Amino acid sequence: MRLTKSIWQTYKENPSDAVIPSHQLMMRAGLIQKSAAGIYNYLPFAYRSIRKIEQIVREEMDHIGSQEIHMSVVTPGELWQESGRWDKMGGEMLKFKDKGNRDLCISPTNEEVVTDIFRGSVKSYKQLPQSLYQINTKFRDEIRPRFGLMRGREFTMKDAYSFHMDKACLDKVYDDFYEAYEKTLKRINLEYIIVEADGGAMADGDAKTHEFQVVADSGEDLVIYSESGYAANMEKAETKRVNVDYGKDTESLTKVATPNMATIEDVCNFLKVPQTHSLKSLMYKSIIGEVEKVVLVLLLGDDKLNELKLKNYLSAEHIVPLTDGELFSLKIPKGFIGPIGLSADISIIYDKHVELDASYTIGAMELDQHYAGFVPSRDGGKSAHVDLRMSRSGDQTIDGKGVVEEKRGIEVGHIFQLGDKYTKALGSKVLDQNGKTISPLMGCYGIGITRIMAAAIEQHHDENGIIWPKAIAPYDIYFALIGKSEEIYNTGDEIYEDMKKSGFDVVYDDRKQGPGFKFKDSDLLGLPLRVVLGERDFKVTGELEIVVRKTGEKIKVKREDLAAKLKELYKVIK
Ligand code: ATP
Ligand code: MG
Repeated sequence: MRLTKSIWQTYKENPSDAVIPSHQLMMRAGLIQKSAAGIYNYLPFAYRSIRKIEQIVREEMDHIGSQEIHMSVVTPGELWQESGRWDKMGGEMLKFKDKGNRDLCISPTNEEVVTDIFRGSVKSYKQLPQSLYQINTKFRDEIRPRFGLMRGREFTMKDAYSFHMDKACLDKVYDDFYEAYEKTLKRINLEYIIVEADGGAMADGDAKTHEFQVVADSGEDLVIYSESGYAANMEKAETKRVNVDYGKDTESLTKVATPNMATIEDVCNFLKVPQTHSLKSLMYKSIIGEVEKVVLVLLLGDDKLNELKLKNYLSAEHIVPLTDGELFSLKIPKGFIGPIGLSADISIIYDKHVELDASYTIGAMELDQHYAGFVPSRDGGKSAHVDLRMSRSGDQTIDGKGVVEEKRGIEVGHIFQLGDKYTKALGSKVLDQNGKTISPLMGCYGIGITRIMAAAIEQHHDENGIIWPKAIAPYDIYFALIGKSEEIYNTGDEIYEDMKKSGFDVVYDDRKQGPGFKFKDSDLLGLPLRVVLGERDFKVTGELEIVVRKTGEKIKVKREDLAAKLKELYKVIK
């Protein structure tokens, strides 16, 4: 590709909305152009990389026997009504009406459509399992589109769906996808962690779900990770604290005046006890359909609540902390909340790390008053005792074999066992061996094509620009011609053709610019290798220069040895 014939241009300044390296570099290197918030045009270099990522994903999907299809991007409202998600998907789903006043939406995901395809074609257990995938555009009206392609509103996803007669078969295909995702990320040379994720409301109890997280400081996800082999996303993680200092003073329950001390810190400083000698009281409202219930959650003073664990424990659709107004109307004194004196219809839930026989300081349900010497098993009344706390660095794994740390990750893939939720809802039935109808089990498997490109740049760049992993680089070589004479341009044209004949994809910088300008652009674009044909040097020594983008290594090479040297270098680049 000759730059004199291309649309490409680079930029000196970062756009003000670009705050992470991949977004900044994609904009500055002229890879993408913003169309609207969270919506981008992919320019030639970006699109070549995207197609390479798609191809790697496609090969790995084909390898495990998944069949490629292409579902409509606009889908009918009726299908979503059938599954019950038309009203449940919330604001992320972009809905509209056609001129016949029919409901439509732009697919944020495709369980409904794929189940509709399946129910129309598969009737017998003999046709199972089935596995279908597509690489297609998704639209999600994200609340906070940001970071460029990382969290766009319009993006490209590979989504796959599988159908099974039984859990054993689902498990097997699930493992195939797991492996295919690993291979995909390895081929792109991404450092990743596979974490247990939360099945949320989508899955049944023993349904597996994993996320593939690319490690990066700018990642939006928090991951709990231990060298000993445990990894889970923050929402799901369950770990244990070590050497907790529990209060032993269980003699008597006494009221202490704590004027204006409405935080754990204030109270513990005042009483000169560690925060683990106190309990944090949180009031939440759980919402299930029309039913609202208030609960009191108690954690060790310095622990944080993992809201998802509470939501799952309560099987709630939503949970929300009580507002100051709600506390006021229930006559609950904010900052001085505790179980003693609480209305009997409010359930009490202790986090597992609260030792029920230890003693604590806790709110006395009276303004400016706390209790000391509160022992949950003695003074606390009826309660539940479950894991609710947020894991954190320094905790131990549950098996006690390792210490965990927090890492930041970019979720590039997510695999999920769905159970029969969609086949049931959409009345998709197949006959089993005994002639009985069943609703097959499903798995779904997503990988973000455009997010992978962003994640790859996030992991592979330096202060001068992108350093493309070889497998997804838009081109292999940046060929910079430095010179003026017609003769050197003719030589450049020949060498350009030669390199292409040797099998390389080459960007030929044949623009009339100086070396500084060209090398800056070359570094910014970040192709694996740069070849420089400098008129002066070439005339004297007959040599060209190769520069390896990642290491900066420079190699002088005669024209006749160029192809062999490039092949040798290219082979070892990752
Ligand atoms: P997130 O928690 O980041 O919003 P998600 O759980 O909604 O992701 P899935 O529905 O599992 O994501 O989608 C599968 C994959 O699609 C994700 O792993 C990610 O790679 C990609 N993806 C999801 N949302 C976006 C987005 N807004 N922009 C780009 N890629 C996305
Ligand atoms: Mg999302």
